[in-house]
Amino acid sequence: MKVYDAVVIGGGPAGVTAALYLARAGVSLAWIEKLAPGGQVLSTEVIDNYPGFPKGIKGYELADLFEAHLDGYEMDRYHDEVFEVQAEPGEHRIKVGEEWITARSLAVCTGARWRKLGIEGEERFAGKGVSYCALCDGNFFRGQDVACIGGGNTALEESLYLAKMVNKIYLVHRRDCFRGDRVYQDKVMSHPKIELVLHAVPQSFIGGDEGLTGLVVQDVRTGKVKTLPVAGAFIFIGQDPEARFLPSILNRDASGFLLTDMSMQTNIPGIFAAGDICSKACRQVATAVGDGATAAHSIRLYLEKLNA
Ligand code: NAP
Repeated sequence: MKVYDAVVIGGGPAGVTAALYLARAGVSLAWIEKLAPGGQVLSTEVIDNYPGFPKGIKGYELADLFEAHLDGYEMDRYHDEVFEVQAEPGEHRIKVGEEWITARSLAVCTGARWRKLGIEGEERFAGKGVSYCALCDGNFFRGQDVACIGGGNTALEESLYLAKMVNKIYLVHRRDCFRGDRVYQDKVMSHPKIELVLHAVPQSFIGGDEGLTGLVVQDVRTGKVKTLPVAGAFIFIGQDPEARFLPSILNRDASGFLLTDMSMQTNIPGIFAAGDICSKACRQVATAVGDGATAAHSIRLYLEKLNA
């Protein structure tokens, strides 16, 4: 079985950066990405807060540039899913597809997935009106009324994106102040197509064989229930870590995100984490890139110590 100095799992900004830095350091490297490189960048319309792109850059274009930057560097690339990691300090075992590979060190950069509301109708209407990706599904609701749920940057930014194509958006948030940045709040609040539905908690999705016809919400102050007549509902209520395949002995925060020290080292020697999978205050392309570079640097130092 091949033993790599380092294995990077994940092809988002953190994983690409870690792989780039490790390849440039000349370590024997495997890079694993189950889909296309880019991670959540791929499902973002425009990224306008990553330095170097003053006019913003489309998510898929940035993902292409990330991948192009790795071209020419030596590494084994696996395009498959990681199902299990067995932590054995000095020799971690990783199940990729049907194959097991071994790594002296590991950078876990698998990011996070969209959180579900867990309410009635959510599963039934998933793909038939309920969506977690405006870029992927927005076009299906051209000229129709939709709801967006959440009060963070994702909900605000994606509402603004959807407003370019749909007829009307109900922006449903459980409080009356938003978590997202002021710059997006101002745009959302002054947008003629966006109606704020505040202090409102989603209760159920309703519809029939043809798909979604409404979102039932309850006002948390009055208890009153009403139905928003929508053909689409986009859920943007945060993320959960993509960490199911990792050993349970890895330390996590209350939401399941991995705890690391400043060098991105987890509590298991040789296992590092970077990007959105980490417990952190700010999940951005810029912070993921920084984590990836730090993790790669720390891995290099770790390998030097192992070799000493
Ligand atoms: P987030 O910041 O965690 O916001 C989640 C929102 O969903 C919150 O407003 C929360 O309400 C609401 N929520 C959570 N659970 C809910 C539930 N069960 N029912 C109803 N509402 C619920 O998540 P995010 O917007 O996906 O952002 C994640 C990270 O990515 C953040 O750090 C964000 O800044 C970053 N991000 C940045 C940009 C950008 O800068 N361009 C774009 C997208 C994302 P409460 O506020 O009441 O808790």
